[in-house]
Amino acid sequence: MNCKYCHSQLSPEDKFCTNCGAINEAYENPNKGIFDAINESDLMTKGNIDRESFSKKQRPGVFNWGAFTLVAVWALGNKLYLLAILECIPLVNIILAFVAGFKGNEWAARSLDYRDMDEFARIQEPWNRAGLSVFIITLVILFLYFFVFLVLAQIAASM
Ligand SMILES: [Zn+2]
Repeated sequence: MNCKYCHSQLSPEDKFCTNCGAINEAYENPNKGIFDAINESDLMTKGNIDRESFSKKQRPGVFNWGAFTLVAVWALGNKLYLLAILECIPLVNIILAFVAGFKGNEWAARSLDYRDMDEFARIQEPWNRAGLSVFIITLVILFLYFFVFLVLAQIAASM
């Protein structure tokens, strides 16, 4: 088949045109279903990753801080539009944050077409780091807020 735009020769495994970079509409993911693996070893074989890097990487079954703290933004970035809409409902959004943290990677893996586990991890790692940073910063601000409050209460009590 040929590229729709520049007409250069393409193979079905090319996600993008190697000449002009356009999306190959006939792209067939050779690893389609890698995230459907039932157990860890199956996932490692299908996902083409080694045991050592496996434990640290973002993958279905691993907690995603990005999905937990940045739910709506993360959902939009991963084309999980229903989640982004549900996240606007008060109270429901608190419960959803936890569910998204634990199940988010599983949803994301099915939402977009990833070439392999590494590509998935490369995209979810920055989300995870950003989410964790936001979480820590929020904790620090809350801590400072209560600290200032306690100091003020002490001063008020001594007057
Ligand atoms: Zn092209």
